Amino acid sequence: MTSHRIALVPGDGIGREVTPAARAVLDAAGTRHGVRFRYDEFDWSCERYLAEGAMMPADGLDRVRHHDALFLGAVGAPGVPDHVSLWGLLIPLRRGFRQYVNLRPIRVFDGLESPVRGARDVDFVVVRENVEGEYSEIGGRLNRGLPGELAVQEAVFTRPGVTRVVDFALDLAARRRGKLTSATKSNGIVHTMPFWDEIVAERAAAKPEVDVESEHIDALAAKFVLDPGRYDVVVASNLFGDILSDLAAAVAGGIGLAPAANLNPEREFPSMFEPVHGSAPDIAGRGIANPIGAIWTAALLLDHLGHAEAAAGVEGALAAVLAKTRLRTPDLGGTATTVGFTRAVLDELGGAR
Ligand code: ATP
Ligand code: MG
Repeated sequence: MTSHRIALVPGDGIGREVTPAARAVLDAAGTRHGVRFRYDEFDWSCERYLAEGAMMPADGLDRVRHHDALFLGAVGAPGVPDHVSLWGLLIPLRRGFRQYVNLRPIRVFDGLESPVRGARDVDFVVVRENVEGEYSEIGGRLNRGLPGELAVQEAVFTRPGVTRVVDFALDLAARRRGKLTSATKSNGIVHTMPFWDEIVAERAAAKPEVDVESEHIDALAAKFVLDPGRYDVVVASNLFGDILSDLAAAVAGGIGLAPAANLNPEREFPSMFEPVHGSAPDIAGRGIANPIGAIWTAALLLDHLGHAEAAAGVEGALAAVLAKTRLRTPDLGGTATTVGFTRAVLDELGGAR
């Protein structure tokens, strides 16, 4: 029997309510496919920051370096600015473990309503560059408070950094429907974006089985809403990918549904799996958080660890519960609880409870 060690970081708020759902689904899928999971739990969170002054211990990365994967619920708390959890936890993990791909699948499930009328057969993946690009610390501000005040922020794109994420997206497209869309803005951003485009063209030439197109980010954002069914894999820089994936999650029916993975494709370090939503303090503690994003994220973890069939089983169970039942958490207009919905997914997976 294969065995994996998972570092669980439930985090704050509803992160703590959806993490048990993901864990139960991992265990059930594992039981069916001869995979055993062992978990170590870590209290890294904004709550820890408020009590001890740090989101995680100084040697945090060393403590999880040898785990097969990390699962993170959500971090955030009222009164703790986003940059604390970002720079105190998420960015050190992403950069330290070279998780240069942020993978965000989008699907409109049967039985769920998209705010976009007529959105059907929507099933695509946004591949966001996760460690360089527009989110750099290079830059500064001058002449604070004066009429001549200005701010400069540099974007950094490196040849290896762009190449590896584009190659990942091309490989993924080759395994899916063979279509890749590159998000760009080379008409307005005249250094980094043409560089990105050139690398996409070079790497695409080495993979003729994938049909590659480039779209300007503004037009692409409009088409995500007007015709989301036309996409298969979309590759984008850190900033563009961030915006596109939130837009796409909204098209799919809401942030509580959206899964994400921060991948180190070479497997030199653990990858980190984390639903897109935050800690949602407004509904925390009531047992009504939507567990779909977390459960789907568990499927991404299974897939990354080489259990594609188990991953497809989890996604299929989610789809079946949504198609066959009216169980919905309040964010989707229903009255189901986190535990109730999760139980239905477990039943669908084969009653391994
Ligand atoms: P954080 O400060 O951690 O980012 P947040 O409140 O900004 O937390 P978001 O994920 O951005 O969290 O969520 C915005 C709102 O969407 C939440 O306040 C909540 O009402 C709703 N929401 C998000 N995720 C879920 C979920 N899984 N189930 C139900 N509602 C959710
Ligand atoms: Mg938020």
